[in-house]
Amino acid sequence: MAQIPNPVLHFIGGRFVESRSGGRFISLNPATNEPLVEVADGQAEDVDRAVQAAAEAFRRTSWPGRPAERAKALRRVAELLVERGDDFARAETADTGLPVSQARGQARRAAENFRFFADLCEHQAGRSYLVEGAFINYTVRKPVGVAGLITPWNTPLMLETWKVAPCLAAGNTCVLKPAEWSPVSAALLAEVVREAGVPDGVFNVVHGFGETAGAPLVAHPDVRLISFTGETTTGMEIMRNGAATLKRYSMELGGKSPVLVFADADLDRALDAAVFGVFSLNGERCTAGSRLFVEDAVYDGFVERLAERVRRIRVGDPQDPTTEVGPLIHPDHWRRVMGYIELAPEEGATVAVGGRRPEAFPDGNYLEPTLIVDVENGMRIAQEEIFGPVLTVLRFSGEDEAVRLANDVKYGLAAYVWTNDVRRAHRVAQSLEVGLVWVNSQNVRDLRTPFGGAKWSGIGREGGEDSFEFYTETTTIHVALGDHAIPRFGAAEAPGEGRG
Ligand code: NAD
Repeated sequence: MAQIPNPVLHFIGGRFVESRSGGRFISLNPATNEPLVEVADGQAEDVDRAVQAAAEAFRRTSWPGRPAERAKALRRVAELLVERGDDFARAETADTGLPVSQARGQARRAAENFRFFADLCEHQAGRSYLVEGAFINYTVRKPVGVAGLITPWNTPLMLETWKVAPCLAAGNTCVLKPAEWSPVSAALLAEVVREAGVPDGVFNVVHGFGETAGAPLVAHPDVRLISFTGETTTGMEIMRNGAATLKRYSMELGGKSPVLVFADADLDRALDAAVFGVFSLNGERCTAGSRLFVEDAVYDGFVERLAERVRRIRVGDPQDPTTEVGPLIHPDHWRRVMGYIELAPEEGATVAVGGRRPEAFPDGNYLEPTLIVDVENGMRIAQEEIFGPVLTVLRFSGEDEAVRLANDVKYGLAAYVWTNDVRRAHRVAQSLEVGLVWVNSQNVRDLRTPFGGAKWSGIGREGGEDSFEFYTETTTIHVALGDHAIPRFGAAEAPGEGRG
């Protein structure tokens, strides 16, 4: 396995450094809850140092102005991520409890993020507008400056690179604040970025807690934009804190995504996708299909097969390549998820499968994959994000009810529709109040497409050109080609002038 750095330090101006205060905190191994690493505990003074390093790199290096250089360095980052993919995956697994087979997939995606945005940055073009031969107006896109990137603990490497790659490709410099429960991948990423020849100060990392390291980054006057992924309530707090310095925001927030299975669907494929969609990544997945709606006519048979599959999911050591569900990230999160499972019978629902700690795993944050039935859409378990291996099942009768129930929730990140009626598929997909719909498909992402949520699930879109839209400033330049009319204020004869 890759040497996991210990202690995990900040990365500022091209060097790994302790906090000014010397403070550290401990991050746990989710499979045992034994300490895994000590981590530098960043405070406002460390954030300030990192922002200064980033601002200096923006002013003094060629990074913002040389797309070809940027593309070359970022492609090198991608190559190194591919070469060390297995090491990254094993380290991420030790840090987060993500099953290693799935962490490998995430490491491949991390490399693709760099390769994709490196290519895109070389193909950026402005727009031009010719005005009747009198003007040529055109746009240029410029990097914005120092970006603050704040990421959550679920799939940290993939989500960090999802922000870092387009941010740097667009010519910005950045300070990344990874989640306190998953600091390791950002430290490994810093090593790779340095080795790839990205100039010192372009990429910086400050570790620490939300209130003490994240909040000063948001409030810092020299940080121009914040790309945040995390809980909706944190996003709200960040928008309040950044108001005084007028930040630009991209907000990728929580979800409670519906899966709609119509009676005419390919039920075998729908079953595979429904199970994978909520139990992969330990259920700690923003786009998890955590509310399953099954049409009346096929409900009983489908739920019976579903229960059988959920019972047979392999829970185990996350470093074992055959494990399908590993331990949750942290004991606090385990208790939060258990709290929802305990709430289910109080609300009148039934825990049909799972719902307990597996007997074979007395330590660590293991939880049986859980299926809850007899659910009503108004229950908290059907409305609030549980963010664990828990699926709530509801029934519907007909298309109108399916759409009404699916939309009756504050969140609007993703939805999955299963039907073989092509007209209904489009009708339903277009009626859902979400940022992303998959039809007869599991969650397969194309990096060119916009990604983001509606309602409580976010503001703005990232991905492909939309990422460049967010990470750049557009200047429109208007050039006169001839002598157009210019009103001549003050050129008229003054009253009394020229008389007499
Ligand atoms: P979180 O909101 O608790 O923390 C996210 C990050 O914000 C962490 O780095 C944390 O330290 C930081 N933070 C906390 N308070 C802050 C503050 N006041 N100022 C600045 N930074 C602060 O989220 P989490 O529990 O780490 O992650 C899980 C959540 O992320 C879920 O709600 C999930 O749906 C969401 N998520 C969304 C997407 C998406 O693309 N929409 C993707 C992944 C995860």
